[in-house]
Amino acid sequence: MALIVVGSMAFDQIETPFGRSDRIVGGAATYIAWSASNFVHPVRQISVVGGDFPQAELDALAARGVDLEGVQVQKDRKSFFWSGRYHMDMNSRDTLETQLNVLEDFNPVVPERYQDSEFLMLGNLAPAVQLSVIRQMRRKPRLTVLDTMNFWMETAMSDLEKVLHEVDVLLINDSEARQLSAQYSLIRAAREIMKMGPRYLVIKKGEHGALLFYQDQVFVAPALPLEEVFDPTGAGDTFAGGFIGYLARTRNTSFENMKSGVIAGSAMASFCVEKFGTLRIQEVGKEEVHSRIRQFIDLVNFDINLLD
Ligand code: AMP
Repeated sequence: MALIVVGSMAFDQIETPFGRSDRIVGGAATYIAWSASNFVHPVRQISVVGGDFPQAELDALAARGVDLEGVQVQKDRKSFFWSGRYHMDMNSRDTLETQLNVLEDFNPVVPERYQDSEFLMLGNLAPAVQLSVIRQMRRKPRLTVLDTMNFWMETAMSDLEKVLHEVDVLLINDSEARQLSAQYSLIRAAREIMKMGPRYLVIKKGEHGALLFYQDQVFVAPALPLEEVFDPTGAGDTFAGGFIGYLARTRNTSFENMKSGVIAGSAMASFCVEKFGTLRIQEVGKEEVHSRIRQFIDLVNFDINLLD
């Protein structure tokens, strides 16, 4: 089933305690599209890039079956740029610089061909842009999933509140959940956030996995224990792509199926961190995805006898 992906396409510069990247291609929608395309076709992209964005990257996405009609290219301007530095735990990071550039006044246009899409993934981007896409859809998608980050909580909270009212699922990480809800306990945070609009909530905890909330139920998914994490950038977006890609492919938006979606997302995210940027998720294929999902099944599968 068709999936629309909205989000940044960007240049990133990343520092970890173990190394530093040059300017490499990143952006929320880039990671989401690479990840979701393992599950669903077509992936219909909406974003904006400057004249500096490599054509080869756009061609590679197109070759993977990603529809780029909704990606505007502003030849005389620069792409969005983000740089960040990871702490020793590789879970938390500081943003060093955010240059909005073409994102500053981005006016997304949903192509006519995209109108019949049943799934909508609103990746990290200005909440006003996410809202504009929602409003342009003539038919409400079966499922709308939102990702956001602290930057937008700090600079565009009232727009973010409006978007939250219009989505079914929110994906955020643990520190952002605490910031958004002003609650330290993630259970309380989840309760507060679900009052803001989304019926389902996924709180990502990096190497500690993810929690899926619905009403008073909670599902816990592990992250794959990895010996080496090169670059966590994009792991959240790659998770999002696997999550919604799986739901779109199975055309099932029940809480039970979302549990499988969380596992699919976690499996995809575990690939992302193995190399810098999008390198790893560009090369994975169906076989590898399946065997990694099987690893997740083994990871949490156990029998126990209840003893008197
Ligand atoms: P993640 O590691 O999944 O949280 O996402 C990292 C990606 O988010 C990077 O590739 C950045 O280009 C992108 N990004 C960082 N800050 C923003 C922002 N304020 N708006 C949109 N995308 C962003």
